[in-house]
Amino acid sequence: MSFASTITGINLPCHICGAQQLDLVSNYHDLPRVASDCVPWRSGGRLGICKACLCVQNPVDPEWHAETHEVYSKYKIYTQSSGSEQGVFAEGKQLIPRSAKIFQRAATYFDLAKPGRLLDIGCANGELLRCFGRLAPHWKMVGFEIDDKRRKEVESIPGVEAFASGSLEKLTKSFDIITLIHVLEHLPKPTQWLRDLHRLLEPRGLVLIQVPDPKQNPYNLLVADHCSHFIIPDLIEIAEQAGYQILACSDKWVSREFSLLITPLTAADSRRAISEYDVSQHAEDRAASFPETALQWLHDIIKQAQSIPKNKARGIWGTAIAATWLYSLMDSQVDFFVDEDVHRIGQEHLGKPVYSPSDVPVDSHIFVALTPEIASNIVCRWPHINASLHVPPALVY
Ligand SMILES: [Zn+2]
Repeated sequence: MSFASTITGINLPCHICGAQQLDLVSNYHDLPRVASDCVPWRSGGRLGICKACLCVQNPVDPEWHAETHEVYSKYKIYTQSSGSEQGVFAEGKQLIPRSAKIFQRAATYFDLAKPGRLLDIGCANGELLRCFGRLAPHWKMVGFEIDDKRRKEVESIPGVEAFASGSLEKLTKSFDIITLIHVLEHLPKPTQWLRDLHRLLEPRGLVLIQVPDPKQNPYNLLVADHCSHFIIPDLIEIAEQAGYQILACSDKWVSREFSLLITPLTAADSRRAISEYDVSQHAEDRAASFPETALQWLHDIIKQAQSIPKNKARGIWGTAIAATWLYSLMDSQVDFFVDEDVHRIGQEHLGKPVYSPSDVPVDSHIFVALTPEIASNIVCRWPHINASLHVPPALVY
């Protein structure tokens, strides 16, 4: 039986396909949320499913715009790690920056030996540009952000020829590669936006898109400044409608993220397309009980987190979106965070210390605020930890 009931007939517009057919999910409004720069955010959001294009989304109305403006006006990037990008595990062992992992996987489509030009939209403090600059020292790079807070930092990166902010209209040159890492899920009307992007692409240019996988990582449904929660069939449909051919599409380049490499349709003739995503999965993905199962799982986590004993020190494993959300749920009665990322150990998150797993308080209770798969890997990696680890329930669609 489906857990989430929907409220129909309110005729909200879908910001993706334009149909007035958005049904709201009823058990979302009371959930606390989190801003994408890992700050707790109030409840009161709305989550909808479009009956026409089936994309799960937050209604893009004046309220969403006002909240998003509020998030961005206070935005801090990677505050937990003194400015270093989130690490990801390569082959399950070595922690490397996310950008490096993406380029490792996409490298077969790039000719980095020849000079070229790359635009990183949503460049934040320039971690991707730093990484790409090391791989392709002959390339010229441009960073784009919504405001000027990081201008000096980005302009000082070797290979960066310019930084632009505010509106993409300011850019007049065209690019061989445009990167959109964790950008598309923030943008209203993504199809039109991608269509407009053709203007900035060389005829055989490439767009590299990465968005979170909200099925494998449902905490992303709680990010107040996201407006789309794409699964792969949504991304393929949007890219094709915007005039692109899919060159590569994968849920494996970075775990719990979807990666898409696209090129203008007119340039696709001689390109070799690969897909690590089986298109026959489309129907299955659409039929799976998303977002109902994901929301049920989040509600189960609330119960679990609130039942953790309060008579001993309490910690949360992680310092990103999920950990921040859990912090607000546990009545903020959290004494510490735990992280394996050396950039984060020794820092503070939300005013609490971040410990290495080997330094956690003895006999403490730690909620592993991650997906079930990562949580069980952690339990295996740290069998002798001096604490009780509480892991989230299984997530089965
Ligand atoms: Zn729609």
